[in-house]
Amino acid sequence: MDISHIFNELNDAQREAVAAQPGPLLILAGAGSGKTRVLTSRIAYLVEAHQVSPLSILAVTFTNKASREMRGRVEQLLGIPMGGMWIGTFHSLAHRLLRQHHEDAGLPPGFQILDSDDQLRMIKRSLKELDLDESYWPPKQVQWFINGHKEEGRRPQHVPQSNDPQQQTLLAVYSHYESLCQRFGLIDFSELLLRAFELLKNNEVLRARYQDRFQHVLVDEFQDTNSIQYAWLKLLVQRSKNLFAVGDDDQSIYGWRGAKVENILLFEKDFPDTKTVRLEQNYRSTTSILNAANAVIENNQTRLGKNLWTAGEEGEPVKLYTAYNEQDEARFVIDQIQAWVNQGGARSETAILYRSNAQSRTFEERLINVGMPYRVYGGLRFFERAEIKDALAYLRLCESPDNDPSFERVVNTPTRGIGNKTVDQVREFARQNQLSMWQSANQMLSGAGVGGIQLTNRAASALAVFVKLINTIKEQIREQDLYQQIEIMLDLSKLIEHFEKEKGEKGQARVENLKELVTAARGYELEETEDDLPPLTSFLAHASLEAGEGQAEEWEDCVQLMSLHTAKGLEFPLVFLTGLEEGLFPHQRSLEDGSGRLEEERRLCYVGMTRAMQQLWLSYAEVRRLYGSEKYTSPSRFLSEIPDELIQAIRPKPKTVYETPSRKSTWVDDQSTHESGISVGMAVTHPKFGDGMVINIEGHGEYARIQINFSELGSKWLVLAYANLSPAA
Ligand code: ATP
Ligand code: MG
Repeated sequence: MDISHIFNELNDAQREAVAAQPGPLLILAGAGSGKTRVLTSRIAYLVEAHQVSPLSILAVTFTNKASREMRGRVEQLLGIPMGGMWIGTFHSLAHRLLRQHHEDAGLPPGFQILDSDDQLRMIKRSLKELDLDESYWPPKQVQWFINGHKEEGRRPQHVPQSNDPQQQTLLAVYSHYESLCQRFGLIDFSELLLRAFELLKNNEVLRARYQDRFQHVLVDEFQDTNSIQYAWLKLLVQRSKNLFAVGDDDQSIYGWRGAKVENILLFEKDFPDTKTVRLEQNYRSTTSILNAANAVIENNQTRLGKNLWTAGEEGEPVKLYTAYNEQDEARFVIDQIQAWVNQGGARSETAILYRSNAQSRTFEERLINVGMPYRVYGGLRFFERAEIKDALAYLRLCESPDNDPSFERVVNTPTRGIGNKTVDQVREFARQNQLSMWQSANQMLSGAGVGGIQLTNRAASALAVFVKLINTIKEQIREQDLYQQIEIMLDLSKLIEHFEKEKGEKGQARVENLKELVTAARGYELEETEDDLPPLTSFLAHASLEAGEGQAEEWEDCVQLMSLHTAKGLEFPLVFLTGLEEGLFPHQRSLEDGSGRLEEERRLCYVGMTRAMQQLWLSYAEVRRLYGSEKYTSPSRFLSEIPDELIQAIRPKPKTVYETPSRKSTWVDDQSTHESGISVGMAVTHPKFGDGMVINIEGHGEYARIQINFSELGSKWLVLAYANLSPAA
């Protein structure tokens, strides 16, 4: 069989990896060296040259987006659809396995996934039931404790005994939480992985079956697997030993979530005949970009070390923009994108990257203002919006009424006269009798064994309306198409009606989102789904797993916004890495926690920089308003790690006086000027507050608001008409 089309696009080292003999293989290589390309080529090679059935291949990637791309790439190489192939994220594959063997995994057929919000709700309920005060036992901390143990494969009984009362209490909450989830068939994200692992570990027959079935297991971004994921992979390849792992220790960015970069070192120990291949040529970036990124990552002490070079052109130097504030940063970045588009570039070739999801808002506002389509990946996910979660909660209750987080979410949304007190009573009755809230509500209404807890007549009739509503929806959606099921639910629950009453744009947006859910369902039905589940079950799981859609459509030409974590593995011709300020990036927490975390931040910076193919812009704001407060910033240490000759500084042209910047700068014209001639960067004097510099202007005319940074008093917002400003002497 002619397989030259696979090999033609590879260099020697890549070919060696793709055509390696079966057995454990580890590809350790830097950013943009073709690791992902090698992995997809390997799949094509196995199928074409070795007649391996696509059904006996399992490939794991990091995001849903990456797994879609991988499937597409393999299909393109092979020219056939690969529907049956197991390609996905760890979570989606674990989910698939558990659905097929829910009974062996000890789960009810309609088990449901708790997202992180729902998990918190369950944790709060556990705390309440154990009479623990949330202010002493912050639910987030408990969540971190539980997930941390699960990621290491530890059930409560596996956690080492401790004399520390605090540890003992946390453990008690873990146990209680676990029993609640088990009782109601709910599993959180870490549980997905742990259950899937235990399923294979404890069930010899299934284990043998899957070990036989998956002759080849391939994993991308191996540096970010956690203990339980690695253990699961090892179980799968115990017989075949055909584990093909690609990764880069310099891009390990999920240590905070339990990922173990040490797995790379363990690999060679666990599989003694491992063949290790290194790829050293970068095909993605210009020399300038690669050199700057290499200069940053060199500051990390703990590295396996590697050489990365490119035959690409030198390209433009990396550029650094110093913004007055976050508004100015957004304005500048979007002006640059506009210029790129004016020169014939596509919007989708550009990416705005940031450390914290909250930073996206300023960019989004500016993009909306100038009418430029964009898409935010990760972060504010469609399926995480409140109104969408309300709608999904109705559907989940219809599927499996014992889903307490869903029950609590919609029992009084839209309001139907069920107060907190009633909900507390239902919860208390549930706790006393080990029931789900749904069961509890039904029993209380039927008056069976209610004991000391008595609903008022009003409360009882309101609750009865809710129970009847869920039963009616359940009945009416039976045998309907998925999108009709959603329409019926939206109609009967009166959710749309409810949000239509909410005034202003927000309510409007919520209604639109709900309608969008119907569209999403239609699209979902048309897509080829990989499982044989009822569409609603499958759709609800998809909603939990998918980093959702929204904004512009994926196929539309739009600017790409995402956090640095989400950008992993992707590439864009024009990249803006924004918010390079101490405390923001590197993140404050990493500065407080010691050097390990700081090195992870630096790797994150390296990941961000190496996404750029042709041009890389770095930026920071001297004043930033974020999370509702305003701060003076200092530039990120990562900026000072890039040698001066590799970076070109660009600043807005100062209007009068301005401190001399440390780097050699190019000046650009600034557009934030008010009709009166006052502009951002201008030095002014106020009769009372003294000298200061204009750092922000909002609005026009005499009622424009002007923010001034006064040398003595710090920053203040003033209305131009009353401010009585004069140019500084
Ligand atoms: P990351 O570490 O960011 O995940 P990676 O090592 O997975 O990067 P790829 O995304 O596979 O790298 O490849 C980077 C770019 O280089 C892609 O555009 C890819 O198509 C291209 N590329 C890889 N190998 C070659 C090659 N031999 N010839 C030409 N282009 C290549
Ligand atoms: Mg990759």
